[in-house]
Amino acid sequence: MSDFTAKYRPQTNSELDLTFAREQISKIFSSGKVPHALLFSGPRGIGKTSAARIVAKTVNCLEPTKEGEPCNKCDQCVSITNGSNLDILEIDAASNRGIDDIRDLKEKIKLAPTRAKYKVYIIDEVHMLTTEAFNALLKTLEEPPEHAIFILCTTAPEKLPETITSRCLQINFKRASEKEIIEKLEKISKEEKIEIEKEALAKIAKAVNGSFRDATKILEQLSFAKEKITVDFVAEILGQITGLGPEKLLVLLVDKDTVDGIKEIDRIVESGGNLRVYTEQLLELLRLGMLAKLGVTDITEIQQITLSIEDYKRLIEIFAKAGLELKDAVIPQLPLEMAVVEWCVEGQEKRDVGSKKREEEDENQKKKEPESRISPLASHLSTVSSSSSISLESIQNKWPEVLKGVKPKNHSVEALLRATRPLEVKNNFLILEVFYKFHKDKLESEKCRQILEDTINEVYGEPIQIRCVLGERKPANTESLKETETLKDAETQNDDIIKSAEEIFSVSVE
Ligand SMILES: [Zn+2]
Repeated sequence: MSDFTAKYRPQTNSELDLTFAREQISKIFSSGKVPHALLFSGPRGIGKTSAARIVAKTVNCLEPTKEGEPCNKCDQCVSITNGSNLDILEIDAASNRGIDDIRDLKEKIKLAPTRAKYKVYIIDEVHMLTTEAFNALLKTLEEPPEHAIFILCTTAPEKLPETITSRCLQINFKRASEKEIIEKLEKISKEEKIEIEKEALAKIAKAVNGSFRDATKILEQLSFAKEKITVDFVAEILGQITGLGPEKLLVLLVDKDTVDGIKEIDRIVESGGNLRVYTEQLLELLRLGMLAKLGVTDITEIQQITLSIEDYKRLIEIFAKAGLELKDAVIPQLPLEMAVVEWCVEGQEKRDVGSKKREEEDENQKKKEPESRISPLASHLSTVSSSSSISLESIQNKWPEVLKGVKPKNHSVEALLRATRPLEVKNNFLILEVFYKFHKDKLESEKCRQILEDTINEVYGEPIQIRCVLGERKPANTESLKETETLKDAETQNDDIIKSAEEIFSVSVE
């Protein structure tokens, strides 16, 4: 099976999918001066590492084209493409925080390249380096040898010390536009002879939040379908992404509905939504609402929401704060849940001021209400610590036996299971991580569940129920792969899932 991501990785500057980056890089190298330190910043999956490799080829190609592009045929180009060039060093700062690599780099950098003209150091996720490694890197950047070029890549340039960024020529890889994503998908579809509706491509482009890599992976998944790919089919695959906008929460906030507000956030989490993106969208919605209220803009659907300027201000404050707290949250959705509680309870208090007569009554009410209103949150917290008699470890140890036991009963269920992973045992529930909503739906169907639970009972000698949650590493979710995405195991896991998906598409679970 081909891997679209590798197959359609750009190999020359003109093939770079991102117009802005393409133009910037081309400008730099057409000037004839070779910079010694470049900083490529931007979201994951946008093509930073691909661009870095192209730069390595551009400076080392033995027979560049007259446009100054690498030939992709000479020894240098070929060895850089297949990763065997000894003078091109790729360091993944996310995997071991780079201490040994940078120490090694410091020692060896003075040595001339073995065969290439330039030694090129590509440091991916450079913001993950330890302070020690940063200091070592800085020393090298202060006086780089003539034969060395550094290309630092990062999804979080704001985490880099100013001493580093100031020494680099920075190119900001902005999120790809939907148009750019569609262009790339069209190119691949044509090449692979995939029949797909135009609206279906647009739907994918909308869902991937500017990531070429995610878009490519989704198209690869879809390419297993035997018929023309329709927009509905795409919608099914992307099920967890659609309907996850913040509009519903906004309505609940207007109603000061704490319980349903928290439930809505849980639904987003369960469906594999990205809370950071979700919060950004909510803030944007509030901002537009406030501007509409002020008469700055004219957006009718938002105007229908009955919030005062004061309300908008307060909501923006509360949710902007929650947005900042998301990164370090122990329970991912907790900051948003707290924001909902804060807003709704606060609103409750404000309303109480209006009626002096009911003050005493309200006093009691207030004491009771916040407590009863946050109960779903409290119950959520309490389940976190509970456990069951079967450990996750013993589940994992005998998991192959479960697969083996399921197979003769139903091949498709086994294929589905191979695309999942036991995540947790909680209150006699085995939580399975799945990566697509339609996998989840199928596995949780009465029939699948029965087969699975029977087999689990046979294997472990104890009844245990299953529940599925949408996992983090599915390619369809933009934030999902995070920094670790570059790690080999994540890649391998994705390959496995894609392989399993292939089987699932070819057999239906009936
Ligand atoms: Zn070449």
